[in-house]
Amino acid sequence: MPSQHANVAIVGAGIVGLAHAYLAAKSGKSVVVFERSPKAAGASVRGFGLIAPVSQTAGASYQMAIVSREHWMELLQAARLPYQPTGSLHLAYHEDELAVIREFCHLGPGFGYVCQWLDAKAVAARTQAALPAGLLGAIWSPTEVAVDPRLLLRKIPEFLAERHGVKFRFGCAVHAIELPRIDAGPERWTADAVIVCAGDDFETLYPETFTGSGISRCKVQLMRTAPQPGGWRLGPSLAAGLTLRYSDKTIIDNLVIRYLRNFLQAPNLDVNEHWHAIHACHVEHPFLLCKPADNVRVVTALGGADITLAFGLARHVLREMSI
Ligand SMILES: Cc1cc2nc3c(=O)[nH]c(=O)nc-3n(C[C@H](O)[C@H](O)[C@H](O)COP(=O)(O)OP(=O)(O)OC[C@H]3O[C@@H](n4cnc5c(N)ncnc54)[C@H](O)[C@@H]3O)c2cc1C
Repeated sequence: MPSQHANVAIVGAGIVGLAHAYLAAKSGKSVVVFERSPKAAGASVRGFGLIAPVSQTAGASYQMAIVSREHWMELLQAARLPYQPTGSLHLAYHEDELAVIREFCHLGPGFGYVCQWLDAKAVAARTQAALPAGLLGAIWSPTEVAVDPRLLLRKIPEFLAERHGVKFRFGCAVHAIELPRIDAGPERWTADAVIVCAGDDFETLYPETFTGSGISRCKVQLMRTAPQPGGWRLGPSLAAGLTLRYSDKTIIDNLVIRYLRNFLQAPNLDVNEHWHAIHACHVEHPFLLCKPADNVRVVTALGGADITLAFGLARHVLREMSI
């Protein structure tokens, strides 16, 4: 079988891999993406799907999120994929939360955050979902965008293949990389550069990269309510003190729902779907970027904010590799 060649090979069709594929293809490179599963099945299809710059720490991470958001918008519009630019509200019901929120609204703009303090009346004008009783105020941020990760992880590859000629090989695990050769399933491939975006698989490729790197796996438990009646919409994404925590047990689900009732007045909070997700995370850094060999990079562990940061990080990695 003759070997096929691409300028850039990507391992993993999660959002991090797709972001690299998109930007590399847009810069005129031929790109192939290898995905071990018949379709993307990793953390990317299990997340909440909130592009959330406001949740990033000030400085490089926030700037990366803003760049990422621009690329997201460009891609979503070009591919005619649905998204909701809802913005977000971080609600305060307690004096200590109020103090944090007011301080953030005071200092945040100086660090580049687009945010605004709203009193309870102004919150009510923006959403019908926030329980008014006891509400002290909120941070309004217009930058958050909600997407459906399950839909997008299916549709983006189709768009990249059709519009940008990116080749996808699903059901095709990469076992070894010895550039220019890539050992990937039955086909023979060569590439000039490889970017490994394998999520929480730390064992298959360059395992030595991960040993002692501070990277680990983080398990998160999620749930979804039944569809709301009568076309009721949440509007801006809502967060309050404890919703910033993750959970992993039914008893915690119940506590979360009980806590949600303190600030969310949705018609139906019956949960009809549960799942969990495992993603890579680093104890200290916002992501892991390693160079295990010339023209090879390993990119993972975007701290549970991969959807937010993926395109910004991809731009950084590709520039650093002169792609
Ligand atoms: C519960 C939860 C909620 C989240 N919500 C948000 C959110 O609201 N906003 C946000 O910004 N981020 C969020 N995240 C983070 C984000 O969704 C994921 O962590 C992120 O999408 C991971 O992307 P990835 O491409 O690195 O990994 P993955 O999606 O895991 O993709 C890696 C892919 O590589 C493939 N692969 C691995 N090894 C090989 C190999 N050798 N050969 C071929 N293929 C291989 C795997 O099969 C997999 O499909 C959330 C995460 C979790 C867990």
